[in-house]
Amino acid sequence: MTTSPGKPKFISKPITFSLEISTRKLSEFWKGLENGKVYASKCRKCGSLSFPPVADCSTCLSSEPEWMEIEGEGEIETFTHIMIRPKNFAESPPYTVAVAKMKEGVKILAWVTNPEYSKLKTGAKVRLVTEKSETGATYAFTLH
Ligand SMILES: [Zn+2]
Repeated sequence: MTTSPGKPKFISKPITFSLEISTRKLSEFWKGLENGKVYASKCRKCGSLSFPPVADCSTCLSSEPEWMEIEGEGEIETFTHIMIRPKNFAESPPYTVAVAKMKEGVKILAWVTNPEYSKLKTGAKVRLVTEKSETGATYAFTLH
């Protein structure tokens, strides 16, 4: 227990908790990746697009998303090179991630598989592609 002058307070022991988050409503997204497609969610009520897809619309709270395939054409808005990698990627060489605005209007954050430094700049055209690895399917950008 700690106290400070004028403001008595009690600090509890650390509390841990976990949430069970259902991914059932988003399973189409993962199935799509396995089949080489990337989907955003589109709210059937207000039309908001979301990526990553969401089960519940952040605009109108409706819980009826439909799936919209991202065709793959986008333009880099920003990017960065990751030199100091998180533990999970400590064995990987430094890598590049970018945020691109896709033709459909959503913005996507993804790794850039071929970061040729002479081509990498804001406004550069990218293509969103799916990839399969030991841990499952994912998506990434390739520079045009
Ligand atoms: Zn909505």
